[in-house]
Amino acid sequence: MIKLSNICKTYLMGDNPVRALDAISLTVDKGEFVAVQGSSGSGKSTLLNIMGILDSFDSGSYTLDDTPMDNLTQRQAAQYRNRFIGFVFQSFNLIHHKSAVENVALPLYYQGIKRRKRNAIAMEYLERVGLAARADHKPSELSGGQSQRVAIARALITQPSLLLADEPTGALDTQTSEQILDLFKGVNADGMTVVVVTHETEVAEQTRRVINLRDGQLLSDQRL
Ligand code: ADP
Ligand code: MG
Repeated sequence: MIKLSNICKTYLMGDNPVRALDAISLTVDKGEFVAVQGSSGSGKSTLLNIMGILDSFDSGSYTLDDTPMDNLTQRQAAQYRNRFIGFVFQSFNLIHHKSAVENVALPLYYQGIKRRKRNAIAMEYLERVGLAARADHKPSELSGGQSQRVAIARALITQPSLLLADEPTGALDTQTSEQILDLFKGVNADGMTVVVVTHETEVAEQTRRVINLRDGQLLSDQRL
């Protein structure tokens, strides 16, 4: 499903180049559940953003479902993201003035689905993450764990084949993290490919493969 070959990415910090990714090659097959680990600054987010077509790379190649992902226009990138990929962030990235159900329904708005229908589908996804009763609440009225479950419902509503999560439990307590991990395990059991960035060993241990990065390089790649 994912094939990265010799991906390099350098950022400029003032005049100093920072090599965020240094010739990363890896493949992720359909249905895998993968953790990406590494200390802060090791390139985890850069890698995930490239997988999620949120960021470009300097050299190398990336194919997603046999389609090359380099030289895409913004519009093409957005189309592939909307069709294939769900993204979950540490800070949830919910829209504050919208209710939980409206947040979840948002990707369907971009697909041109009418309000009534998209809200009905969003309710099904809120139910799935156990938050139907909070549908009309704004993010400010939700706990961190609830907010992340709303964000996950929003990521799942387009039925992506790939779910990418960048430190999704980084801002949550242990018990709440377990609920989030259970959701990921559930969608993975249903066949979705899941890649989760984490620096928590307890999270990584619950996946089936751990990729370790150090200084932008692939340090190890271990199947559990
Ligand atoms: P991680 O997610 O593992 O903490 P990142 O992928 O965010 O690592 O960052 C990898 C390296 O690239 C770090 O040295 C970071 O400082 C640098 N970096 C990331 N994003 C930028 C940016 N937008 N501008 C400059 N440097 C960046
Ligand atoms: Mg990061």
